[in-house]
Amino acid sequence: MITKTYEISANGDSIKCLECGMTSWSRGDVENLYCGNCHEFHEFKELKARVREYFDGAAPADVVANVEEVLRMMAVSRVGRG
Ligand SMILES: [Zn+2]
Repeated sequence: MITKTYEISANGDSIKCLECGMTSWSRGDVENLYCGNCHEFHEFKELKARVREYFDGAAPADVVANVEEVLRMMAVSRVGRG
């Protein structure tokens, strides 16, 4: 099962975060699939959601901590590239 954490409007003008409910019309947010309210990229949100699903809501704490650490490093390098 693929967990989606965002929806792009039909005309592609806005992105809605399905986790916090915020809709953004920022071009950068839409292009980068970013939620300015959660301060997080949706590809990372979805990756975390998949980890939770994989462990059926009972992911060991060290696995969750490792995933979040990797995501933080990816986010830093991604912002650096932007
Ligand atoms: Zn959000």
